[in-house]
Amino acid sequence: MNVPQSPRTQPEAGLALRRLPAVEKLLESPEFAPEIARYSRPLVTQAARYVLAGLRDKIREDKKSPSVADVVRLIKEHISGEWPGFISPVINGTGVILHTNLGRAPLSKKALEAVSNLGGQYCNLETDLGGGGRGTRVLELRRLLAVIAGAEDAVAVNNNAAAMLLVLVALAHGKEAVVSRGELVQIGGGFRVPEIMEQSGVVLREVGATNRTSLHDYERAVNDKTALILKVHRSNFVQKGFVSDVSISELSNLARKRNLPLVYDLGSGVVLDTAEFGLEHEPTVQETLRIGADVVCFSGDKLLGGPQAGIVAGKIKLIQPLLNHPLMRVIRLDKLSAVALEATVKSYLDKTAVEDIPVWRMMSATAAELQTRARAIVRKLKAKNISAQAIKGDSMVGGGTLPEQSLPTVLVSIKPEGSLEAFSRRLRLSDPPLVARVENDLLLIDMRTVFPEQDKLLVSVIASALARKD
Ligand SMILES: *Cc1c(COP(=O)(O)O)cnc(C)c1O
Repeated sequence: MNVPQSPRTQPEAGLALRRLPAVEKLLESPEFAPEIARYSRPLVTQAARYVLAGLRDKIREDKKSPSVADVVRLIKEHISGEWPGFISPVINGTGVILHTNLGRAPLSKKALEAVSNLGGQYCNLETDLGGGGRGTRVLELRRLLAVIAGAEDAVAVNNNAAAMLLVLVALAHGKEAVVSRGELVQIGGGFRVPEIMEQSGVVLREVGATNRTSLHDYERAVNDKTALILKVHRSNFVQKGFVSDVSISELSNLARKRNLPLVYDLGSGVVLDTAEFGLEHEPTVQETLRIGADVVCFSGDKLLGGPQAGIVAGKIKLIQPLLNHPLMRVIRLDKLSAVALEATVKSYLDKTAVEDIPVWRMMSATAAELQTRARAIVRKLKAKNISAQAIKGDSMVGGGTLPEQSLPTVLVSIKPEGSLEAFSRRLRLSDPPLVARVENDLLLIDMRTVFPEQDKLLVSVIASALARKD
């Protein structure tokens, strides 16, 4: 009987399959040295196995065996295309100062020095050096935070989402929190106020309408199950038109009358006056507490410009239950973040924040400074026969802060000959990667978020991405 051969055993395919190089052999090639150095041998082996498995399937179909050079190229392409790589520095040409996808706030030199000084040594994190016994974690940090916030007490946890959760759990578990329907916001990837409230076991008492909430709405909702009044900064969007909401001072009066705490999730928590940087005035942490919020919480890595952290500041009698709550242990701030936050806050207290903290340095960069740098870059590109221009544009602050507000900036604009999308992808896959904007058929690099010390590197990244043709 004539049994049809399965593709696996077809002789031509078998031969072609045997011609495929072995993984071990492939990895001995110096071609893979950069990948192995960057990703480690086991990971490159994994990539090679994956690509070879795909090739085997293909060979069974078309019986053609690729050359070793092709196999090497395919594995390299797989690695560079599929692997984002370990966390590594990126040149931010987007102009978005707080780019959540690019790690939000870069740390100040002082914060970095503090981290590198402390990280490799033992420290007095939980030791009372005077008494010799166990001490309280980061007491000094609490003091520093309280001073910049103008609060009686403060505490820092892992991030602001955790801070909100802690506040709700510790102050309102099993009870109700009154919130305006206009403030049930979603922030970036997955922080939704109603969902956090559900997780915290607090009953969400929604009041008002999406666009309008009045004091009366809050008054009517307060009952003997109410544990707190919550206000949430809309952060990443604005409402316009037929809108109204209730001010902190009005809410504070109501809270006082009913003997309830007023909690404000500020989101970004700015401590400097944004009006001095050409933006609208954003209520500061200090102001908000002064006007009548009893507790505020905000992020460490948004406009504060520090490490990822969530800071809660306010009345001692409301901070104390947070410190004693078991959840505190779960979401506590790591020592490296604590020391970076300490150094960041110290810059504010020393009044050197605008010089020290990259976020504020970038916010305060003038169009003239940016113009000078952009022109120098354009000149260097022209010397390499790359045509580019310095043009005016706008930068966004980002990170879910100050939506619809921008800062005048200067952009380096490039119009590549081939596909703009492909050029922008090559830049993103460069070493170091450059993330830029693509607008109106142009590749735009906003000088505001490029560190001046990266200007030279920027030129070489652009030049080599233009020279590469893949
Ligand atoms: C950003 C933001 C958060 C989340 O803060 P993370 O530090 O990212 O956890 C929570 N609430 C508001 C209003 C925010 O803007």
